[in-house]
Amino acid sequence: MIEIKTRAEIDKMQVACRISAQALALGGSMVRPGVSTAEIDNAIEKYIISQGARPNFKGYGGFPGSACISLNDTVIHGIPSAGIVLQPGDIVSIDTGAVIDGYHGDNAATFACGEISKAAQTLLDVTEASLYKGIEAAQAGNRVGDIGYAVQSYVEGEGFSVVRSFVGHGVGRKLHEDPEVPNFGRAGHGPRLVPGMVIAIEPMINEKGYAVHVLDDEWTVKTNDGGLSAHFEHTIAITKDGPIILTKL
Ligand code: MG
Repeated sequence: MIEIKTRAEIDKMQVACRISAQALALGGSMVRPGVSTAEIDNAIEKYIISQGARPNFKGYGGFPGSACISLNDTVIHGIPSAGIVLQPGDIVSIDTGAVIDGYHGDNAATFACGEISKAAQTLLDVTEASLYKGIEAAQAGNRVGDIGYAVQSYVEGEGFSVVRSFVGHGVGRKLHEDPEVPNFGRAGHGPRLVPGMVIAIEPMINEKGYAVHVLDDEWTVKTNDGGLSAHFEHTIAITKDGPIILTKL
C-alpha cells in the first residue's frame, strides 16, 4: 500500500533527509587515497547521532554499518571495513540514511578517489544525470514506469546498462515502502504518481552488463563481468507543483 504523506509529514521527512544529505556530503568529503571505508562509516554514524537522529541502515536486516560504501565493481551494499582502504582511481559509492521523529531519509552518490579514468568519470556523470532524468519524470499524474523509462532510455543511449535486481522505493515511516521504483520500465505503466507520495529514485548503472550477484557475506552486490558501477539517489516528494528533492542540500 502506498502511503500518502501530509504536508506536516513531508516537513518531518525534510529534516531526516537533510541529515541524510549532510551525512553523505561528509562521507564524500573524506574520499581520498589511504582512508578506509570504516573511517568514513564511523564519521557518518557520529554525525547522524550528533543531530539527534539514528543511522537507519545500521542493523537493518542485520547490516553492520551505518553507511553502505561500495567501490568500483561493487554496485551497492558494500560493508564498511578497516581492511578496505581507498586507492587512487577508485570510484566510491556511499549510501546514507537517517531516521528522526519517526521518519526516514535516504540518499547516495558516487565519488572519485583522486584522479579517475575518463571512462569512470563518464559513468559517474551519466548516472548522476540519469537520476535527474528520473526526477524530471516524477510529475503528479505520471506513472512509476515513466521514471524508469526516463532513466533507462537515457542510460542505454549513452552505452551503459541499468541494474534490474535492485530498485528504488517509497520512503516514509519505513525506510522501504511501496511502491517499488525501478530504474527501467515502460512509459505509462505502473502506479500513478500523486501529490504526497515520497519516493527514493536510485539508478544503479553499470559500465558493461547489468547482471549482478551477491557475495557470500549476503550483502555486497557486484557486477558479474567486473565492470564498474555507479549509484546516485535522492528522496523526493511528489507535489502538484512538481517533484521536490528532500535530500538536496
Ligand atoms: Mg534507497
